[in-house]
Amino acid sequence: MKKILLLSTVTLLFLTSCLLFTRKTETTPEPIPPTASPVYEPSFENGLVPEYRDIVKELDDASLYSIEFIIADDLYHITGSEEVAYTNNENVNLDEIQLRLFPNILGGEMTVENVLVNGNTVNPKYKLNNSLLIIPLEKPLEPEQSLTLNMDFSITVPQNVELNYGVQAYFEDVLALAHAYPMIAVYDDEGWNSEIPPQSGDVTYADMSFFLVTVDAPKEVTLVVSGREVSRQDNGSRQKIKVEAGPVRDFYLAASPKYEVFTKEANGITLRFYTRKSLQKGAEYALDVAARSIQIFSERYAPYPYTELDFVSTPTYALGIEYPGMIAVTEWVIDPDNAYLEATVAHEVGHQWFYNLVGNDQLDEPWLDESLTQFITLQYYTDEYGQAGNEGFRADLEGRWSYINNDPIPVGLPVREYSDAEYSGIVYGRGALFFEALRKEMGEEAFDAFIKSYTIKNAWGIGTAEILRTEAEAGCKCDLSLLFEEWIYP
Ligand SMILES: [Zn+2]
Repeated sequence: MKKILLLSTVTLLFLTSCLLFTRKTETTPEPIPPTASPVYEPSFENGLVPEYRDIVKELDDASLYSIEFIIADDLYHITGSEEVAYTNNENVNLDEIQLRLFPNILGGEMTVENVLVNGNTVNPKYKLNNSLLIIPLEKPLEPEQSLTLNMDFSITVPQNVELNYGVQAYFEDVLALAHAYPMIAVYDDEGWNSEIPPQSGDVTYADMSFFLVTVDAPKEVTLVVSGREVSRQDNGSRQKIKVEAGPVRDFYLAASPKYEVFTKEANGITLRFYTRKSLQKGAEYALDVAARSIQIFSERYAPYPYTELDFVSTPTYALGIEYPGMIAVTEWVIDPDNAYLEATVAHEVGHQWFYNLVGNDQLDEPWLDESLTQFITLQYYTDEYGQAGNEGFRADLEGRWSYINNDPIPVGLPVREYSDAEYSGIVYGRGALFFEALRKEMGEEAFDAFIKSYTIKNAWGIGTAEILRTEAEAGCKCDLSLLFEEWIYP
């Protein structure tokens, strides 16, 4: 049995970071000129496994982003443009559209210019330290009506990993560019969801969308992107790739001159790990764990949706971070003898089901992705190593909770209501143990059927605590209010 160490994903540095906004320098390179081409027909179906291909038509009203990123030779200045075809899928009129500009609260700077709605110039408003762009609409957008937004943007990426685990950073020769485009916020029963996210949790809450992305970058870097590269063009010192991704909840990009790629085919899915050559053994070990995790989770919950899953090493100070079809792993764990590696990979692969396939409000209900993913990591260890694996990983969960003296703080709170120690102990520890308690209460067979049906019914959508509880109660034909009061509700 593998020895499982106590994981401390959330060893946070409390850095009162000074947001020094760097002025945009004149390093923008000559982009490769567009070539005349026939009308472009994306084929998002080709990035999905056969079981899911119909979803492309079913989600025909999801946002379609067309984005161009031009990465300067210094790798930390980025300019670009974005067009979004947006449909009002709510049952109320919308008199504004809200987009998040995350670089402005992740240590960098993003400016937006030339904002158009259906080709007409508008004057947007900014809030939340310029991380929220509000586009007022001249006439309310009625349910099922669509519009097109256009804007240009430029980003200065911070050259440190001080904020939010370094999800956006140019550091140690790696550009990590998470959610670095104007991103449409989710409109739900609370209205538009926009807030400054706490440092300890994930920062996004997003609906499924489609992305057509062009990346123009120096030729010496290896580009790692969400989705599939569909074409490539080289021109002198520059390269330009075209990418299709979707349905996904986010678009991620990393670039580095030091990446090599290690590949594994498993169950019709291409797994790749982009990292330094010296980390080959760890990367290959991680891909083996990923293949086994995908098999276990596909059988237990729902098939893995995409034809690809990429891993990339970045200087993040989290152990790993999940993105749709993409996982960032911090370099120091990429070693087959490091016990953190297997747990990190299994956990981050698990997020492909709970965070991406079934989404949730990661700021208000973080337990729906983090606690559930910790629980399914426990299921991975149980299926892989039997009772010993179960006990080993359960000891990790219990250890986290015991760090805060098994304080029975509710599992269902928003990230902002936990201290960092509580967030780790409750959301990553106690929350996973709740799912064990739920399995005991419902009976194993009813629980396993419920979690599968929760996944399948909410695939591509958003899960909530109430949906999960209703589904569980339907599965056991029992009243679970006492159990939810004891563990989940404030
Ligand atoms: Zn996680």
